[in-house]
Parts: sequence; structure tokens; C-alpha cells
Amino acid sequence: MPRGAGAAASSSSSSSSCSSAASPAAAAAAAADGYLPRFQHFATQAIHAGQEPEQWKSQAVVPPISLSTTFKQLAPGQHAGFEYSRSGNPTRNCLEKAVAALDGAKYSLAFASGLAATVNITHLLKAGDQIICMDDVYGGTNRYFRRIAVEMGLKLSFVDCSKLKLLEAAIRPETKLVWIETPTNPNLKVIDIEGCAQIVHKHGDIILVVDNTFMSAYFQRPLALGADICMYSATKYMNGHSDVVMGLVSVNSEDLYQRLQFLQNSLGAVPSPFDCYLCNRGLKTLQIRMKQHFQNGLAVAKYLESDPRVEKVIFPGLPSHPQHELVKRQCTGCPGMITFYIKGNLQHAETFLKNLKLFSLAESLGGYESLAELPAIMTHASVPKEDRDVLGISETLIRLSVGLEDTDDLLEDLDQALKAAHPQYTNRN
Ligand SMILES: *Cc1c(COP(=O)(O)O)cnc(C)c1O
Repeated sequence: MPRGAGAAASSSSSSSSCSSAASPAAAAAAAADGYLPRFQHFATQAIHAGQEPEQWKSQAVVPPISLSTTFKQLAPGQHAGFEYSRSGNPTRNCLEKAVAALDGAKYSLAFASGLAATVNITHLLKAGDQIICMDDVYGGTNRYFRRIAVEMGLKLSFVDCSKLKLLEAAIRPETKLVWIETPTNPNLKVIDIEGCAQIVHKHGDIILVVDNTFMSAYFQRPLALGADICMYSATKYMNGHSDVVMGLVSVNSEDLYQRLQFLQNSLGAVPSPFDCYLCNRGLKTLQIRMKQHFQNGLAVAKYLESDPRVEKVIFPGLPSHPQHELVKRQCTGCPGMITFYIKGNLQHAETFLKNLKLFSLAESLGGYESLAELPAIMTHASVPKEDRDVLGISETLIRLSVGLEDTDDLLEDLDQALKAAHPQYTNRN
């Protein structure tokens, strides 16, 4: 059993520790493409951490779904670790332990959704405290901070944290939380987590949160880079099967863990045991899924970049990405999220999207199936047009979540949909 392996893995963070790669082969592969070496024991921990059969009387190898809401006590106040399922559930425990190991963290907590995790984290603050939020974050995060947290007396500033000087300039005595998301959505702008952590922690008691949804635990470890909290919408890559809505939060600080656990129980936004079972199961293949997302994503990005019917491709794994060097420094690879501008206007984008056969036209991301969407009309419709213009979210910007299908089939589907949108380009290449 890889007990304590979480602690071992958390020391494999610094970009100089190439020797921490899982094997000489992995180190060589990582060195060859220049990314951070992959995290030690990752696949083993995904499969074994928190899953010990010895914790069950039955010695079940696969953690059972524990539906009971209550647990028998031996004497008043004397229980076997569980009292009531909101405060603690055996199936949820297994998931939380596995996630902690994968994040190189001491503790992890599961919530009913990514936004429920965000709400719980924000409840660490009190009226009058200020939040600094990356100016380009998930729409639901933006809406919660702007329309709800502010109404409860929190102060809020949106800052482009990819410019560390702007972040530093925005910090005030009442700043208590800095919220970043990297890469951003749908622009895939990358933020220097280590750089942010150094600035934030120079100014005292401020919590740095990284929304790690797009990268997953396999490609990025925010805690090892100096963040205080790593959070996920597990609805995306962590579960990876588009059948669970869930949030996850990992921390190393005992104090933060105690406070967040109190909030998890007190606010009550907990996931169901069945969803915990599914997400825990999804984690078992996180490594092989993410490797394939990277491989397919890179193939699609290269294909689109070389295509005359495409204006521009944004993919952090392409050398043309403005922060490709930073990506290699802080990540072990890239997920299957690609943003591109199709040539032409809204009509070209719509024709392309309507003609896709394998890629489903749908919101969300991070599942095994490929998805495509038009942020200006779908996921980012609630962002005011002026803001969309500033962010470059035009009507020709298309976002892809590249899944795990055969690469050639994906390229063929893109090609036939591009043909439908641009029939005048007959002989590609
Ligand atoms: C989906 C998403 C969220 C919100 O998570 P839910 O599980 O939908 O509540 C937060 N951040 C990012 C980056 C997301 O993609």
C-alpha cells in the first residue's frame, strides 16, 4: 500500500527536481519534450490510495457505495468514525483520500459541485474582506462573486493576474483571497502560479486558490507551486465521464482543512455516495485518459494550425502559444482543450458546428467524448458583449474539448465540417 506516498510525491514539485520522475524512461521522455517530469507514483496512488480492502469487514477490493445516512453508536457519543452522512461518509472518505494523494496534498474534501466548493472556500472570509479574482474566470465563479458574495459584504476586484505587477498593485490590507484559474477559459491564458504565490504570501495572511479544473491533478500541482488551496470542478476531467457534477478541494494546512471541513458539514453542500463512487472510479483511469487527451489534443491543434480555413489556434501545448515556456515549467503536459478562430463570420462557425458528426455540439468539457461549442452564444453568453470583445471571444471563436476517440477519426470529422463551412477550399495542403 503506498502509505505516505502523498508526502513523497509532494516533494517532486520543483522544476529542478528532474530526478523525481517515476523512472529513467519517464525522465527522459519529460526532458525530451521539456515539460515538468510527471508526478511520482501517480497511477499507483490513483488506484490504491484510500482504497485499502482492510478498512471493510468484507475486505471489498472496490469501495462499496455506503448509502446509510446514519451509523450505530456503541454508547452515546462513542462511534466507529461515522455518525451522520453529511459530516462523514465511508465512500466519500475513499474518494477524498485518493484525491489528496493525487494532488500531493495532506487533505481533500468533496462538494456537491465545483461551485459548491467555491462557495465553501469563500465562506472562509467575512464581510469587509476583499477578493482579488483573475479577470478571465469561469462564468459561474464570476457570477457568484459579483452577484452573491458582494451582496454579502465582500469586496471584489477583477485583475489580470497573468501580469504579476497588476496583482501586486491590487493587494490591500483587507485582501484575504486571491482566486486564479489557469489556463483560462476559453482563451487558455496561462498564469504563473509560483509567481502569484510569492507575491501573495509576501503580503501576509492571504489565501491563494487555484481552480485546477482544466489541467486536472495529472498535469498540474498548484499546492507544490505555492498555492494554499487547489480546487476542481470534478464534473470535468477528474471524473472524466460526463456523468457526475462534483467539486473537490485539496489543502496542506491543518488549519484550512479544519475550517473547510467545518464548512462542508455546516453548509451541507455534499455529494451523494453514489457520485463519490463514480468519481473515485473515474480517477482510476485519470492518468491514461489525460495522456490520451494530450496526444489527441496536440494532433488536433497541429492539424488546425496548418489549415488554411483556420485563422488562429490557441493550445498551450503548441510552441506558438505565447506562454508555452511557462506551461512547460509548471505543467507535466496539456489537456484536450483547444480554442480556435475559424475564418469568416458567425455563419461559417455555425455551419462548421452543425456539420460535426463525432464532436457533439454541447457545453461542458473534460469527458471521454469530444465536444465543440461557440462560447459567444453558449458558455459565455452571459458575459457582456463589451467584455467579450476585450477578451477576444468573437463569433468565430470555437472551443473544443478533444476526447479519447481515435485521432484519425477526429481529424476526419473536423476536415469534413471545415469543408462544409468553406466549400471553396477544395484541396487542403
Ligand atoms: C465547470 C467549471 C466550474 C464549475 O463547476 P460545476 O461542477 O459546474 O459547479 C468551475 N471552474 C471551471 C474552470 C469549470 O470549468
